[in-house]
Formats: sequence, C-alpha cells, structure tokens
Amino acid sequence: MERIEKMYIDGQWVPALAGKTRDVINPADASVLATIAEGAAEDVQLAVAAAKRAFYEDGWMVTPPSERARLMFALADSLEKRAEEFAKLETQNNGKALREAQCDVSDAVACFRYYAGLATKPHGQTYDVADPMQTLVVREPIGVCGQIVPWNYPLLMAAWKLAPALAAGNTVVFKPSELTPLTVIRLFELIDVVGYPKGVANLVLGAGDTVGHEIAANFDIDKVAFTGGTKTGRSIMMAATGNIKNISLELGGKSPNIIFADADFEAAVDWTLFAIFVNQGEVCSAGSRLLIEESIHDQFLERLVERTKQIKVGPGLEEDVEMGPLISETHLNRVLDYIELGKKEGARLVCGGNRILEGDLEKGYFVEPTIFIDTSPEMRIVQEEIFGPVLVVQKFKDEQEAVSLANNTIYGLAGGVFTQDGAKGLRVIKKLRAGITWINAYNPTYNEAPWGGYKQSGLGRELGTFGFEEYTEVKQININLEPSPLGWFKE
Ligand code: NDP
Repeated sequence: MERIEKMYIDGQWVPALAGKTRDVINPADASVLATIAEGAAEDVQLAVAAAKRAFYEDGWMVTPPSERARLMFALADSLEKRAEEFAKLETQNNGKALREAQCDVSDAVACFRYYAGLATKPHGQTYDVADPMQTLVVREPIGVCGQIVPWNYPLLMAAWKLAPALAAGNTVVFKPSELTPLTVIRLFELIDVVGYPKGVANLVLGAGDTVGHEIAANFDIDKVAFTGGTKTGRSIMMAATGNIKNISLELGGKSPNIIFADADFEAAVDWTLFAIFVNQGEVCSAGSRLLIEESIHDQFLERLVERTKQIKVGPGLEEDVEMGPLISETHLNRVLDYIELGKKEGARLVCGGNRILEGDLEKGYFVEPTIFIDTSPEMRIVQEEIFGPVLVVQKFKDEQEAVSLANNTIYGLAGGVFTQDGAKGLRVIKKLRAGITWINAYNPTYNEAPWGGYKQSGLGRELGTFGFEEYTEVKQININLEPSPLGWFKE
C-alpha cells in the first residue's frame, strides 16, 4: 500500500481526521515524490489542545532551561548526522542546487545550537527602585505558538522558527508549505526520537487557507509567527486580531543593490549574481533591483550579462548545477507573466526571459536567469516582488538619487551597497529604510544578528537575541523587602 506521510500531533503520527491526502511534486521533473496527509481546521484544533496541555498541565513552561538546551543540542546533533540525506531530500522537494541545500542543513544545525546555548543565558534585569522595593524583570514563554513557513527554505525556516520558540519554553503548532513538507516531516521524526515531551512540538500539514488560517485565528494560540508573501501576512494579521495575538511577520521585499563607480568591479559583479540568482531568486531578501552609477552602467552590465549566461541551470541533484527549477508550475507561470509584463511596460530584456524547454528540462519548471534594463521607477516589475531569477536594473547619477530610488517601494527588507569609500558606504546604508543591509557583500546571514524588515516587509525580528525575545513575555516582579503596613487609609 502507498505510504502516507502523517502529521505529528501530541507525540503521535496521525492521518488527517477527514482522511484526505495530497501529492508532493519534484519541481525538476513534475514527478510525485510523496503523498502526505492533508489536514484541516479540526486537525489544527487537536494540535492546539495538545500544545496547551503540554504547556500548562504537563509542565513544559517550567522545564529548566538546561533541559530545553539538552534536547535542542541533541536535535542539532541528530540532524547533523543525517545532513546529506536531508540536503538531497530538500533539493528533490524544493529544486534548489544541492550545494545550497547542504548550506541550508548546516545553517539549520547551527541555528538549533545557537538557541540551545541561548536558552541557559541570563535574560532578566533587576532594578533598585525606591527603598524598600526591589524590582525583577523576567522573561517568560508566551504559551502556544503557531508557526507558518513558506517553500523557499523549508528546513531552514523551520529551524529559525522552532529553535527560539522551544528554547524559550513555548509549545508549538507548526505548518510547512503544502508544496515542501518533506524535510520538515523528517525533522519532526528527530524531534520525536530525541525525546521532546508529547505535545511540545506539533506538526500539521495542509493548505494555507484552511490549516494556516486556523492557526492565525485560533483563540488558544497565543502567538503567530509567519514567513511568506506580504498579502498573506496581511490576512494573517487580520485573522489574528480575535484574541489579540502576538504576531511576528517576515514578508516580501524588492531590495536594492547599489553599485557605485568606485566599487571593486569584479567583486561587485560576482556578489550581484549571488544577490539575485541564488536559490533561483526565490529569496525574500534577494537583491532584485540593481542600481548602477551612470558612469559604469554599460561596462558593468556587459560583464554581468556575460557572467549570467554562464550560470548552469538544471536539476539540483546533478553535478555542477548552479540554479534549479522554480517551485511549481503556478509559480513558473507567475514569473513568466511578470517577464511578459516587463516587456509590455517598455523595459528591455538583455538576458534570458524564457522558460527552458531543452531535453528533459521541459518536464520541470526551469526559467532562464533574466535581466531587464531601461526600467523606470513606476513600472510594476520594479515595484512588485517577482520571487524568481529576474533582475531589474536602474541607473543613478549620484548618492542622493541612489538613496531616493532605493527607498522607493512599499518594502524595506534588505539592501546592499558596493563602494571602496567606507564613509560613503555607511552614509548610504544609514539612509536605507531596510532592516538587513550589507556593505561590499550581499545575502550572508548570521544566527547572531536580527533578521526582519521595515515598512511592509514585516513586523518583529528573527534570529539573535531579538529572535529569542520575540517568543517571550516580559513580567515585572516588585518585592517589598521590609513588609509593613502602608498606612494610606486611616484605621
Ligand atoms: P504564501 O505567503 O501564500 O505562503 C507562505 C505560507 O503561508 C505557506 O505555508 C502557505 O500555505 C501559508 N498560507 C497561505 N495562505 C494563508 C492564509 N490565508 N493563512 C495562513 N497561512 C497561509 O506564499 P505563496 O506560496 O503563495 O507565494 C506567493 C508570493 O509570496 C511569492 O511569489 C512571493 O512573492 C511571496 N513569498 C515571499 C516569501 C518570503 O520569504 N518573503 C516566501 C514565499 C512567498 P500553503 O503554501 O501550504 O498553502
């Protein structure tokens, strides 16, 4: 009989209550990789009840931080032992080149280790307020956290969400994208094996508008953390108002990568490729708008196009492949529609622009790395997140124009500046309305540093101590060291 990948609720592997299933597709050839349970609101409700019990009745909320750290270090070790298997599965399910999936797995291991370590570090404060009072400020877990992640970094986004939440002492109801649940299912097998108490971490599978919506709306979920598109973020925010949930949102971007004429030319070209084409451009922080100083515009583009044409596109598991397929047929069509729109809007294609239909690639969702020039700021391809390997180029005269173009979208997630003038680099970065920035680099991400956006790119921060604090409530405790009557009211 066909194997059905199940959900993990209250320490048990369970099918969907309604018995529904869904196929998971390999985007490199459209073959069926697995069949998974397809849950609904009622499955989420069971998971929430288990998470609530584990938090309040079974004592997870008062489990010593050292025990939470021990479990998380064990989880990191067991993931590391099976790193190659996880990387291959991630590539099959998401499409990304194997070397990228290998980085994702090692980054996920490092993220679990970072938060395992942070669990036991001091998080409180004390204040000497007016005598004889002493005030303590403690951080406590929020309670039951709902977590929803997208398909572009399935395992890594799971680590970014689960690690701080569990390290801080919360219980979790977690939903991966219906398109890419496979490595997360394996991760929950490890969570089971290392011995997390039942109900602490629950995995629900199913679509965003059913399972995802229930997570956002459920009154027994105290916090919802989401990564995905801005439109979905908005609807989650609205659904979460019922019980005034704590919310954190990591949403879309249309981030500027600014190249000044005095930049190290070859370094800037090389990082520009990484900024937009890594992970097929399906990256929230992608440097999808390239701003080039007028005086080097033509020369820079010539070299960029030459390098872009050399990118090897193909199935992620094949050796030497540098860029894989897009996640789904729907998404491929969305990206191709944007390319058509760019042409209609009057931008000029200087590289790519087509679906790849050569040989076996015809079966998958491959698109050429694409570059548009001669754009203007109001074009939709300049303003909207395409979330694929499509770069739009803008030209600027001076520092002031670079900053004004860079900030001219609804987003504020990330941005980069290339220049050999250190003061100019910092001056420009300080004027960018964005949460994640680089000077003479683009995209490196560190567990220690906060990740998140300004404007419509989100709310709150992940990673670092900021990411931990997002999963805590702050309580003040005022202690009278010399208890005696206050005497405010006369006897
Ligand atoms: P979504 O934002 O729709 O999906 C992200 C996650 O949210 C998935 O797990 C999805 O579930 C879930 N979800 C969808 N609708 C709801 C809802 N109403 N309530 C709760 N959860 C929900 O991304 P898409 O896959 O639709 O991609 C659309 C666009 O969003 C992309 O083209 C890109 O522009 C942007 N995007 C941005 C990302 C980022 O990191 N900034 C990541 C992914 C997408 P399921 O997929 O299972 O239906």
